[in-house]
Formats: sequence, C-alpha cells, structure tokens
Amino acid sequence: MSEHKLQLNWDVIGHEPILHFLEKNLDNQSFAHAYLFVGPGKIGKTTVAKKFGNFVVCEQFQRLSLNDTGVKLKNLGCGECNTCRMYSKGLYADFHLLEREENDSGTLKQNISVKQIRELHTHLNKRSFQNSYKVVLIPEAETLSDGASNSLLKFLEEPTQQTMLILVAPDKNMVLPTILSRCQVLQYSPVSRETIYQQLLNKDISKNEAWDMAALSAGRPTGAMQFAEDRDFYFEYKEKARGVLQLLSGGLADRLLNLEKMLGRTDQKRKALEILNILTSIYRDLQLLKVYQDDLVQHVFLHDELKSVGRENHAWHKKIKQVQEGINYVEHNVTPRLVLETILIS
Ligand SMILES: [Zn+2]
Repeated sequence: MSEHKLQLNWDVIGHEPILHFLEKNLDNQSFAHAYLFVGPGKIGKTTVAKKFGNFVVCEQFQRLSLNDTGVKLKNLGCGECNTCRMYSKGLYADFHLLEREENDSGTLKQNISVKQIRELHTHLNKRSFQNSYKVVLIPEAETLSDGASNSLLKFLEEPTQQTMLILVAPDKNMVLPTILSRCQVLQYSPVSRETIYQQLLNKDISKNEAWDMAALSAGRPTGAMQFAEDRDFYFEYKEKARGVLQLLSGGLADRLLNLEKMLGRTDQKRKALEILNILTSIYRDLQLLKVYQDDLVQHVFLHDELKSVGRENHAWHKKIKQVQEGINYVEHNVTPRLVLETILIS
C-alpha cells in the first residue's frame, strides 16, 4: 500500500488499506454497485460504511462529480452542507439503513423480510431528493431471509443509476453466492493493540486502562471505544470475565453452583451465549499462555489467575471447538444450563 496519507477525515481507527481503496474509488468517481464489508463484530465495518456513505452524498462531492474537474477529496464529508447536516442526524432521505424489524414484544425478528426489500425497491425507484446518490446500508446482511436476498438480487441485476449498496456481514459465506458474486468484497482484519491503545490515550484515560481496554478489545476498535465511552459496561465485562474464569477451577460442585447463579432464572439463553463467548476468549488466552505468547493475552488483568489455571498440556483448541458447538446448540434452543454443564464437566 502506498505511503501517502489518507486525504479524508475518516475518524476511524486502523483499516488504512480499506480506507485507501475507498478513497481511490471516490477520487476516480467510480464505485462498485455493491460492496460487502466482512470481518468480526465491533471491528469498524459499519462505522466505515456510514462514513463512506457520507462522503458519497456530500454536496461537495456531487458538485465536483458534475463538473468532472477532478475531485478534491479534502472537502468531502464537510459536515457543513445541508446533506452532511441531515446525514449526521440520520435524517438524510437518500440514505437507507435497512435493519431487522421488531416483533410486537419488542424483540428483534430473526430476519430482514422480503417485504422490507420490496419497500426499499419502491423508495429507490422514486426520484432522488437531492438528485444525488442513494446509499443503502445493510449492517447485518447475514440476517436477510432467502426471499429477501432474492428480491435484493433483482436490484443487483438491474442496477439503478447512482445507487450504492453496502452490505456488512461477519463472513462472506453468510450471504448467498449469487449476491456475493456481484459485490466488491473488503475484508476487515484486527487492528494492532498498539494502534488502538494510542487512540484511546486521546480519550482522557489512564495508560494502564487504555492498554487494558485495547487488549480486551482483541483488535476490534469499536469494542475498545465502547469500553472507553461506557465505564459501567467496561467494569461489568471484567467482572463477568472473572466469574467465567472461576468456573474453570475448584471443586465441581462449587463450579456448577456458580454457573447456576450466573445463569439466574430468566433470560438464560442470552446469558449463556455471553458466558460461552467469554469462555472462548479465555480458552484462547490459555492456549496463548501454553505457548508462552503472554503478550498477546486478551485478559491482561487476569494474567496471574490465568497462569494459575496452568500452562499444562491441555488441548485448549479442542475446548474452543466444544464451546463453538455449544454456542450453536444454545442458538438452536437446547437448554442453556445443560450445554454449559456438559462443557464444564468434560
Ligand atoms: Zn457535505
């Protein structure tokens, strides 16, 4: 990747190669009809997508692309034009954020429905308010139902002028191959701990805590910022991680009792998934300790406790696989307590 500096103010931590690529698209005024951003959760995919969408609809860009005089990137996402102001408030009419709807009970539906995509088609077929690009962002493209995907495909097969689709998903194999083949895929990789740490220092946080948060975020800047901006969330996470680690040592009866307390009586599925996700990262830490990669450990604040669980010759990767299977079982409504007990006993 070239050494030249980014020209736009992305306000994004890491991901320079991707930002360079998108800037080049803006510079050339040549866009893919659809982008697919893939990578782990909280890594910054949706943040970049929103920012990119802003640059595309900014009136400065529209003016420059009409004049075709070569775009001066620095002016984009000016924050001052009418479009940028509307956009930042989430009110810009040619930006469509497509998310799962809620059930009557207030919980999110399983899928984005075909009805939602049909409504989107209707919107897109109307003339643009600003005679500008229309940007459609789907942050959880993996939740598109098959019907919704097929309906979306019609849109991809007959591209409307000046419409851009940005799909976001954890993995490219989670979208239908027919959609995937029409997307420009950009893979997001974890950001270095040092880069995240340096950014957190600008947030009025002590060095120790910044390092701790950067480590806990496991290369995912959005996760790190969540810790930095929500102290309660940060401390709660640490407490939970400590609790999960305690499930791994001591007598079995005590461990099962602690598990029962953690699961409580209500909302067990959500709690179990949370425990299983933390357990995955703790097993990864134990695996790292086993091969003396202590500096990569995610739960830095639990380093001593992790060490006391031992560097001995456990096949942690097998445990990780078992937990991944457990997550799958819980998601398919197997009793959460049973799944967790099986993992702790074996
Ligand atoms: Zn603007």
